[in-house]
Amino acid sequence: MWLMSRVIVVCLLLLGTGACSAGARPGGPAPAEPLGAGELRLAAAALVERREDALREGDREAFLSTVDDDELQFTATQSRLFDNLAAMPIGGLRLDLVEDGATHDDGEDGVDGELHLPVDFTIRLEGFESRSVTRRLLYTVRQDDGEVVLVDDRDGARDRRTGWLPDPWDVAHLVVRESGPILGFFDEETEPYATAVMSDLRASQKTVLAAVPGWSGRVVAYDISDLTALEGRTPMDLQETGGVAYAVPVRPGSSRIAAHRFVVNPAVAHNGLQREFLLRHELAHVALASRDDQSPRWLTEGAAEYVSRSHYSAAQQRRMAAYVLSFLDTSAPVLADGAEFYVDAEANYALAAAACTYLVATRGPQVLWRLMDAFTAERSSRPRRAGTLSAAQIDAVLVREVGLDERELVGAALTWAITGG
Ligand SMILES: [Zn+2]
Repeated sequence: MWLMSRVIVVCLLLLGTGACSAGARPGGPAPAEPLGAGELRLAAAALVERREDALREGDREAFLSTVDDDELQFTATQSRLFDNLAAMPIGGLRLDLVEDGATHDDGEDGVDGELHLPVDFTIRLEGFESRSVTRRLLYTVRQDDGEVVLVDDRDGARDRRTGWLPDPWDVAHLVVRESGPILGFFDEETEPYATAVMSDLRASQKTVLAAVPGWSGRVVAYDISDLTALEGRTPMDLQETGGVAYAVPVRPGSSRIAAHRFVVNPAVAHNGLQREFLLRHELAHVALASRDDQSPRWLTEGAAEYVSRSHYSAAQQRRMAAYVLSFLDTSAPVLADGAEFYVDAEANYALAAAACTYLVATRGPQVLWRLMDAFTAERSSRPRRAGTLSAAQIDAVLVREVGLDERELVGAALTWAITGG
């Protein structure tokens, strides 16, 4: 009812221009007069409200009536978006016109001009994340025979500038699965694996809850065949990448974090043997959230590797570390930090896992979290512009907390893993 009354209000506003398309005119349809710039803007604002109402009320027909049905590709992606949002647990959905951001193209060759309107699209994954995420869209509206319709909603230049990467609901026909505090997004190709992945996610979540203190256990994970977002986030080759956990800012470019999610590579996630380790590793990153942001990379990745094996006995964990190391040349071991870590990823993951597992075996399970907090404190005691901690600063924290610098730590870890001493 509310929707209908709003349409009528817009009609009344437009009636004076002779451009309202509602209702037949006596004597047959007359060619519609193009709207003036102010009227077009009013009609576009009403279109944004109709779309917001239609999404909130689950009215597919009303939502698609705002789209130019001559634009077949755009209509198809809009239908998909509507169906995805309808299947997802969405809260706090909003479409907000950005004031004073509209620009108008002058029409060429008799074509009516288009209006470009920045619109903020906000949603929250209800029950799984407590903060909303906003994305800036750019609505392009056009007059089509007296009707005002949407022909595009993307701002490609802005998306490239802010490093925006598509969410699964932007690129796939989603299959949505919920299991307790776990939300999984799949698509038509990955759906056959959804039951197995969700079941392993539940089991992995229990392991990670036991290992990482203070985690809520809530998680949002994607397993879809479009790999754009995974490729854009991994520092490694796509084929090497099992998954990536990442922070979601409240809007692109913001330093405020709304949530941590993770995406898996279907090629790895659908391999039953690798899957459990992959899921526990990525869940550990999600559980740690921002706690390890100031830690050297070997600690971030080594801690996730440790957690992925934490349900094995201490002796088994040591044998697993020794087994992986036996395939590597460990004559000059170094604990790597930053992007350097992923250059020789296989060796660096193995050394990082050995170092972290050794620390836990000799100093108790709290040592990794204590170390992370010490790196955070060290970083925040320094000027804001100082960048990441230097190797000497990392060593100073390590010596203070565990009595070993990086070189001594990796040496001790190798000796422990290989000889048990
Ligand atoms: Zn990792």
